[in-house]
Amino acid sequence: MDKTEWGMTPQMVNAYYNPLQNEIVFPAAILQPPFFDPNADDALNYGGIGAVIGHEMTHGYDDQGSRFGPTGNFENWWTPADAKGFSSRTGKLVNQFNEYKVGEQNVNGKLTLGENIADLGGLATAYDALQKATAGKEDPKVEGLTRDQRFFANWATVWRTKYTPENAKVRLATDPHAPAQFRAMGAPSNLPTFAAAFQCKAGSPMVRTGDKQVVIW
Ligand SMILES: [Zn+2]
Repeated sequence: MDKTEWGMTPQMVNAYYNPLQNEIVFPAAILQPPFFDPNADDALNYGGIGAVIGHEMTHGYDDQGSRFGPTGNFENWWTPADAKGFSSRTGKLVNQFNEYKVGEQNVNGKLTLGENIADLGGLATAYDALQKATAGKEDPKVEGLTRDQRFFANWATVWRTKYTPENAKVRLATDPHAPAQFRAMGAPSNLPTFAAAFQCKAGSPMVRTGDKQVVIW
């Protein structure tokens, strides 16, 4: 294999994890607002490119990436107990996304599992990283929002997308990524830190608790 080859051009607003090289790649074009702005405050950058970096890292441990070892070989490096725990936890994420609908058509929780695992792990990791980066710093409101609120708001901002109905239909059947509106909602719904940031009460649509809450790591 050619280890110097990139799977995307620098102009693409996208990123990827390649299990064959155990590498994460961020083309230059994604390093712009709303993902990244050197002059923006930490909350926005961690909720944007921070969560994307976490997402790509987490792909190394999703339902596909976890089947490759550290040097890119197809090999099993999991204990049977880990694998069992992983499939019961990720099964709940399959159920969560199976329930989302566009019109009459349901999202395919299995098809989109790897991306949803990556979003959940990535957003949670980026949140922790933000807390570490801002520990002991003041948290003045910006445009009425706290730091944690701005973090989650920018996660939603990066998913602003419009699909034609025809395109949405094709994507639901073939795209391993869930429709953008469900990516904006899906991961935060499982994070108690999101509910705390916006003071959402138990029973709110974006607060998953008890058996419905997905916790993988
Ligand atoms: Zn991904």
